[in-house]
Amino acid sequence: MLCELAKRLSMLLNGDDTLARLGGDEFVILHESFDQLHEVSGLAQKINQSLAQPIVIEPHEFYVSASIGISLYPQDGTSVEDLLRCADAAMFRAKDIGRNQFQFYTEDMTSQAVEQMAIQAGLRQALRFNQFEVHYQPQVDAYSNSIVGMEALIRWHHPEQGLLAPDRFVPIAEEAGIMWEVDRWVINHATQQLKSWIDEGLKPGKLSLNLSVKQIQQDDFIDWLQACLKSNECQADWLEFEITETQLMTNFEQVKSRLHTIEQMGISLAIDDFGTGYSSLAYIKRLPINKIKIDRSFIRDLLIDEEDAVITRTIIAMASQLGLNVLAEGVETQAQNTFLLNEKCSTIQGYLYSKPVNRTRMGDLLIKGLQFD
Ligand code: C2E
Ligand code: CA
Ligand code: CA
Repeated sequence: MLCELAKRLSMLLNGDDTLARLGGDEFVILHESFDQLHEVSGLAQKINQSLAQPIVIEPHEFYVSASIGISLYPQDGTSVEDLLRCADAAMFRAKDIGRNQFQFYTEDMTSQAVEQMAIQAGLRQALRFNQFEVHYQPQVDAYSNSIVGMEALIRWHHPEQGLLAPDRFVPIAEEAGIMWEVDRWVINHATQQLKSWIDEGLKPGKLSLNLSVKQIQQDDFIDWLQACLKSNECQADWLEFEITETQLMTNFEQVKSRLHTIEQMGISLAIDDFGTGYSSLAYIKRLPINKIKIDRSFIRDLLIDEEDAVITRTIIAMASQLGLNVLAEGVETQAQNTFLLNEKCSTIQGYLYSKPVNRTRMGDLLIKGLQFD
């Protein structure tokens, strides 16, 4: 039975993890390198699910359950002894609550993990019951103050927690492997909306959609996309896809040919959050990229931090040399705007012009133009 348990546990771990049996029926897992808390609670859940399957040792069938205690380095302790002691204390609390439970050492962490699990569970409902909403943020030509495009940004009307920003659920949806479904929902709704603005005679410009590399890698993505555009009567050249620099560079070979297909359909491609990853110019030249979006973090301190100013200038010059369009994100002040205009970066997205707004407000902006006080 212990051997079978060990086998099941080791199947859930990755190469960096260590699994040990301390004695009796106590196992310890040393789980290294994770970014988010829900990755840890997710592992605990998977362990419980795996142990829920009966263990068959002919002619018997055994049912077991685990109580899991979790301590975190360095918050809960920096020595092996301290971490084990905290995990042990947490495990006893898990036992008190009942079978198949996990607890973090601090209750705060447990409640955070429980909240994240609730979000994960709610995501499927959100897709089914249309709890998502697309907001739009204008992209502006700063010379003429006119709207030249817009980025679609998702929001979630959570039944208990109110309006949630993407930072609260996009990483969890990615971890749960359903972000591609959410993005298809966004693409479908935003292209319908775009078509109806154009039918009303408005000029929304290009619609930018955020795309994760996982989406591009789906085998049926191109077929799905073509069907979606057809049924929404949306032209491919009305659209632009944004892919973050980091995702692009770490999956370059896998996505290269797909990106060429997308470009051949007539859809533009932009590199999002540019400057935060490690781009190689050789790579960029080999991809059908039209636009670079300078990350908000450089724009924020443009006038305080000389280094950020230099990086921004360099990105703009590089884009121009490579024949790429460039857009600055997160512009909040007139001074930042002036700096960028002086450097000949005139496509701007930021609170200075407009925050992301719902479709009704966006429709108003398209009719009346941007208003300045
Ligand atoms: P992003 O793609 O970099 O989107 C720009 C984010 O910057 C948006 O945050 C926007 O509201 C914010 N922003 C724009 N201008 C300003 C400004 O002047 N100041 C400040 N402080 N912020 C500004 P939001 O809407 O919270 O989205 C956060 C991230 O979530 C996005 O970053 C994107 O990575 C992701 N995301 C949003 N919608 C989607 C989606 O439909 N699909 C996918 N895959 N990711 C999405
Ligand atoms: Ca984006
Ligand atoms: Ca961005």
